[in-house]
Amino acid sequence: MNGNEHRAVGDAASGGALVNVGGTTAQAQFWLGFGDVMALSGDYFRPGPSAGRRDDSHADGGEHIATLFSLARVPGERGTKPGTRDEIVCALRVMTVDEACVDARFAPGGEFADFTRGAQRSRRDVERRVRDRHLILAATNDDHFVDPGGTTHPGRAGSAAFGSAPVAYRRLHEVALEQACRLGRVHGDAAQALAREAAAQHFLTDAFTAGHMRTPVAQIRRFWRARYPTFWQDLQGRVAADTAATLRELTRAARLAPERFLHDATLAAVRRRTEPYPQLSVGDFLARLFHDWDNAHGLEIEGGDLVFGDGHVHEGATRGLAVAAARAGIDDVAVAFGLGEAGSRLTGEPLYRAVRAATGACDRLFRPESMIPRTSARNPPQNWRAPDFESLWDGPIVGSCATTVGEALTEMMDPDGLFIRQLDRLGRSLVDARGLLAVPLLGGWLARNGAAAYHRGFVERLAAQPRQAILSVIHADAGGEGVAGDARAAPAPFVIPRTREL
Ligand SMILES: [Zn+2]
Repeated sequence: MNGNEHRAVGDAASGGALVNVGGTTAQAQFWLGFGDVMALSGDYFRPGPSAGRRDDSHADGGEHIATLFSLARVPGERGTKPGTRDEIVCALRVMTVDEACVDARFAPGGEFADFTRGAQRSRRDVERRVRDRHLILAATNDDHFVDPGGTTHPGRAGSAAFGSAPVAYRRLHEVALEQACRLGRVHGDAAQALAREAAAQHFLTDAFTAGHMRTPVAQIRRFWRARYPTFWQDLQGRVAADTAATLRELTRAARLAPERFLHDATLAAVRRRTEPYPQLSVGDFLARLFHDWDNAHGLEIEGGDLVFGDGHVHEGATRGLAVAAARAGIDDVAVAFGLGEAGSRLTGEPLYRAVRAATGACDRLFRPESMIPRTSARNPPQNWRAPDFESLWDGPIVGSCATTVGEALTEMMDPDGLFIRQLDRLGRSLVDARGLLAVPLLGGWLARNGAAAYHRGFVERLAAQPRQAILSVIHADAGGEGVAGDARAAPAPFVIPRTREL
């Protein structure tokens, strides 16, 4: 589900409830919509304690391990302070840009209007952290899928901590129930437990979207990574070469610098910038593609209904089913809170059993879990395996359907689509002033022109000729210059980057 769709489902299920993501003191409180939290959790921030990390109540300094709840406790400074709730507000803003929607809270007089006025340089630092984390979470999001087929990056810390979307929901739902019962006992405010439930429900509602129901995301990524193991290094090389070459075309100043120097400086910048990322593979493009296809074309579920996904949640039975399950989750929290108010000291499994008994759930599954749909055996299978990229490209994407993988991938790279917009925004932080292309003398100039060069040299080319662009990366080590040459044969018209300032 896209951020906005998560938000709409969460707000519909909770009646537009506000929840407290922060702490209890006036300073530490931070109120957002139930739907906001559902949208931010998992996709933009780690949702809370996970395997091996029981406690996230302290604001840890770790840039990438900070959770939604640890950041929310720390007051910010009009959008300029990393490591604070400024990152959360920034993520809401990023959502409006990437998903091309309006959030009235950022308009003049709105609750977050102030956040658009802080020093721009500092706001960019905050945005970079938000986008980095978003990308890292997306590349390791196995546990947003019902049946991911293992882990994409076995052994990577924090990667796919829960294993699958249903398990993620179960664990985080239990955290919300514990907190609700405790708050009920001390006659506290249930809004903190509801914030935990909203964070948990990101994973619950993902399990209702077609693209997340059967796509073996981790398996696809591992399969294609093994097929082209140097893809990541070659991709970095391609981004650097295209960006450097375009810099030379774009401006006279670049032509004054030795060609090799410009290339090496760009490559070093790209490598430094992408250091915290997991190694992406051609499998990441393909997993995204098969996920997108099911989301748009829908899947039949047992019982005969159709469900759709990201960008299509309003179609078929999707939204109605997801909202009903989200309501059932909120009901569970209310029951746990009521048990606490009545003096219950239950915790762990006995508490969960009491909640299930009170809501008429079966004894193994909470009611919302039991509502997760199962795909029907009648759906045409996803054809994601092939001996090489070229033969995959020419085959049907599902069953014996008329659309090939190549046609579907070309459509995904639509210059106005979400995928290309996100890739483009990365470019801005890839080459901005802080350190990246901080070459003595040339630094400021490179920063000004680097984003335009990345856009024109790499992103536009990928959007215009995805097959050639991907093949030029895949065959980079096998004298792929000829292929790269092809990719250059039809230069895209120069357009000023379409990205907007936050
Ligand atoms: Zn998700």
